[in-house]
Amino acid sequence: MTNPALINIVGGGLAGAEAAWQAQRQGVRVCLFEMKPERFSPAHQSPLLGELVCSNSLRSEAPDSAIGLLKNELRRLGSLIMGAAAASRVPAGKALAVDRQAFARFITEALAEQPDVEIVRQEVTALNFSEPAVIATGPLTTDSMAESLRELTGREQLHFYDAISPIVFADSINHDIVFRASRYGAGDDYLNCPLTEADYQTFYQALTTAELMPLRTFEEARFFEGCLPIEVMAARGYQTLLFGPMKPVGLMDPHTGRQPFAVVQLRQENREGELYNLVGFQTRLKYGEQRRVLRLLPGLEQAEFARLGSVHRNTFIHSPGLLTRFLNFAARPQLFLGGQITGVEGYLESTAMGWLAGVNAARLARQQPLLSPPPETAMGALVRHITNTEVRDFQPMNVNFGLFPALPGRVPKKGRGAAYAQRALEALEAWLARL
Ligand SMILES: Cc1cc2nc3c(=O)[nH]c(=O)nc-3n(C[C@H](O)[C@H](O)[C@H](O)COP(=O)(O)OP(=O)(O)OC[C@H]3O[C@@H](n4cnc5c(N)ncnc54)[C@H](O)[C@@H]3O)c2cc1C
Repeated sequence: MTNPALINIVGGGLAGAEAAWQAQRQGVRVCLFEMKPERFSPAHQSPLLGELVCSNSLRSEAPDSAIGLLKNELRRLGSLIMGAAAASRVPAGKALAVDRQAFARFITEALAEQPDVEIVRQEVTALNFSEPAVIATGPLTTDSMAESLRELTGREQLHFYDAISPIVFADSINHDIVFRASRYGAGDDYLNCPLTEADYQTFYQALTTAELMPLRTFEEARFFEGCLPIEVMAARGYQTLLFGPMKPVGLMDPHTGRQPFAVVQLRQENREGELYNLVGFQTRLKYGEQRRVLRLLPGLEQAEFARLGSVHRNTFIHSPGLLTRFLNFAARPQLFLGGQITGVEGYLESTAMGWLAGVNAARLARQQPLLSPPPETAMGALVRHITNTEVRDFQPMNVNFGLFPALPGRVPKKGRGAAYAQRALEALEAWLARL
């Protein structure tokens, strides 16, 4: 009998481990390269595969939340990571939290026991594979691998920091207060929150005294002037924001007929118009503080956030236009990306992108057609996000219902999560039945 086909996977984190598991299930041999313990990233500490670098929580289990739905999809798809979570679960209310040692040991042992998986403890620096390969080297990818990716994708296509602005759900904005306009009457693309001088004073005071997320040692304030966090700008002086992201010039509030003292602009984030981002409002405020401070803005008093702002080190490629919906490079179809480096954010989002890259690399090696999950599923919605060339300011995202195709008709807010989840699981079953 001839040996089964071979694929290579670089990185034994959540995505690489999931990719390796799925690929061997598809009947290929896997060579999994992991640089630990020869070399550790600044956040990794354990020689085990599937290490959780920070929180031990995999977030909510609620079946009508987007992350709960993603968990159910991964379970249905035979995920190794979800199997490890079930085996190492610790009590955490409605969240799924794990004993990180037991979790990583489960993953490491499961892969080590597979006769078709070879684990090679070695750093990979180049992309010179002759077989299909998955790169899943994560947000702290080594410099040499980042350089190889940059050579492949072009300098502008690889990012090293997230400077993320918060995103709000459109239906949580008070449309009686915000007004629609672009600067100098050049259209009506933006929603604008108008501030009086008193509003600005209150906001400025809250912003400059709010608590910040601590930086890790390897993240010491290397902010770029072009995307400074708002609190850093505010600390430079009372007026600074008025000449930066809160400048009011060229905007007339139709409710007062005057230019407001300050303005926060909201830009449409997705085609369906369900999400709006706060332009230039990248921030490192603690999450609770962000909600409190941003809800002081007129029109955002009841804002619900699809994503909160953050600034942290994160290597990821500008996937739209580079990656296909199968997670391989359009220009180099044998090379797949998995995990956070594709431009998703979070443990399970990364796992999901590992699942798909591993399955497809194996299918390519076996000369089978490649797969892409339906966009109605959580996994498909993530793929859609990272391959959507219409997004102007591509930034990594956690899974959220704003990434899903809109539900038909008007569904009351209370039942919306359940409706998205039901549609997703039905689409997943139909997809699996077709395969
Ligand atoms: C400091 C920090 C804190 C975070 N906290 C959270 C959190 O609390 N919750 C959350 O959901 N997400 C968090 N994230 C995001 C989290 O990293 C990802 O969600 C997830 O771990 C990414 O999975 P991955 O498999 O893509 O990468 P990783 O899990 O980082 O795995 C990448 C693997 O590749 C290996 N590697 C790297 N370069 C090479 C190379 N050249 N050759 C061989 N091997 C290599 C690394 O050693 C590592 O084992 C955090 C990220 C960071 C950096």
